Amino acid sequence: MFWWQEDVGQGVRVAFTDRGAGNLALHTGDDAGAVRTRRRALEGAMGVPAGSLLFLDQVHGTAVADADDPALPPVPTADAAVSADGAPLAVMVADCVPVVLVGRGQHGPVTAVAHAGRRGLLDGVLERTVEQLRDRGADALAAWIGPSICGGCYEVPAAMQEESVRRIPAVAATTTWGTPSLDLPAGARDRLAALGVTVAGPAGASCTRENERLSSHRRDPGSGRIAGLVWRTAPADPAQGAA
Ligand SMILES: [Zn+2]
Ligand SMILES: [Zn+2]
Repeated sequence: MFWWQEDVGQGVRVAFTDRGAGNLALHTGDDAGAVRTRRRALEGAMGVPAGSLLFLDQVHGTAVADADDPALPPVPTADAAVSADGAPLAVMVADCVPVVLVGRGQHGPVTAVAHAGRRGLLDGVLERTVEQLRDRGADALAAWIGPSICGGCYEVPAAMQEESVRRIPAVAATTTWGTPSLDLPAGARDRLAALGVTVAGPAGASCTRENERLSSHRRDPGSGRIAGLVWRTAPADPAQGAA
């Protein structure tokens, strides 16, 4: 079910699923009923109410959904989400980089997830997400980078590598077979560091393409999506938690 999980303080838990949790995406041609059943099982394992986990309609953009907005559609079109109210958040990947962020707000933790694929990373999805966290008064930001395709595996055409490296030099890499590639997790670490965010530990970072327990679009387009997750296990402020 969980590839990696950790209590990160402030009553917040960060996790990344593996294929044991099954495909969690509705857009990969999988049976919708089966996906919903797996999402319920995941919510059960997380200990959050059924139907409370926010999934996004991800489009490799830079929009950040406000999970605390009562007018938010059930499945917002966005590649990141932020919450100051402890809404359980999910971001789905299969080679792209799942990033979970947690900051210290004035009234408890402020949390976020982001889907950092090549396009989103270059276009600033991490910058937009950090901006939204800081807009909610969060400081002492920390990030956890989950499993994604590594620089040794993510082969791209030379022109695409050039375009990408021009924007973020840290993504320059070479495959293990000697062709141009991109190191997206290195790019994410570079962007987060530039934004003053502490990248916490390895967070189970591993190559999705090389590890059969993880979903990889490159290895197997039918392997579905794993998820990066953040949720609260306890009310941040007991005085406010018991209504
Ligand atoms: Zn992606
Ligand atoms: Zn790899």
